[in-house]
Amino acid sequence: MHIKEIVLDGFKSFGRPTRIPFYEDFTVVTGPNGSGKSNIIDGVLFALGLARTRGIRAEKLTDLIYNPGHADGSGEESTKTKEASVSVVLDNSDGTLDRSQVINAAGTDNVGDVEEIKIKRRVKETTDNYYSYYYLNERSVNLSDIQDLLAQAGITPEGYNVVMQGDVTEIINMTPYQRRGIIDEIAGVAEFDAKKDAAFEE
Ligand code: ATP
Ligand code: MG
Repeated sequence: MHIKEIVLDGFKSFGRPTRIPFYEDFTVVTGPNGSGKSNIIDGVLFALGLARTRGIRAEKLTDLIYNPGHADGSGEESTKTKEASVSVVLDNSDGTLDRSQVINAAGTDNVGDVEEIKIKRRVKETTDNYYSYYYLNERSVNLSDIQDLLAQAGITPEGYNVVMQGDVTEIINMTPYQRRGIIDEIAGVAEFDAKKDAAFEE
């Protein structure tokens, strides 16, 4: 399974709908400083519900909404509803997730073709509140549905599917025991250790 494309709309520096294709093996994003490369990664973390643990660069969710005056702080606060959305399209043609797993997460068998799994998140800001929505193949779901589904494909908030700036240095500075923890996490053993500990406590 791999990310096939990302569509950002009203998210951070992406004021217009922007579609970014990803190749199966390797994709590089280049551009000048401040052009929005890291914002793409923030978009992935936002959409997949990994933001809290993997350190998305925003203080609050609504800071992620495109603000034309962001760079110089001149942004006029408009009174109309503002919103941001990011879709992450996963290529599941290798059958990493089977249809029943997707149906289970979506809570309906009306999930379309599961060769493609589209996870979308929206955040909407009104004058006095904000709302966050998740979708799985266009069906409205909860964050936990997304997280449970992704975990079955080995994508977890604690996992190292996304290696952030500073992570490599952190790993180098770890004790061998801490480093072993990462290997357990990647190998999928950590989950069982946690369950074992929980079972012993009962
Ligand atoms: P570098 O090469 O320095 O790492 P980068 O390409 O990774 O740069 P980003 O950090 O992705 O750049 O983008 C930073 C830009 O995003 C800044 O210009 C900032 O003003 C803009 N930006 C961040 N949040 C918003 C927002 N809510 N609305 C509009 N622009 C935003
Ligand atoms: Mg950057």
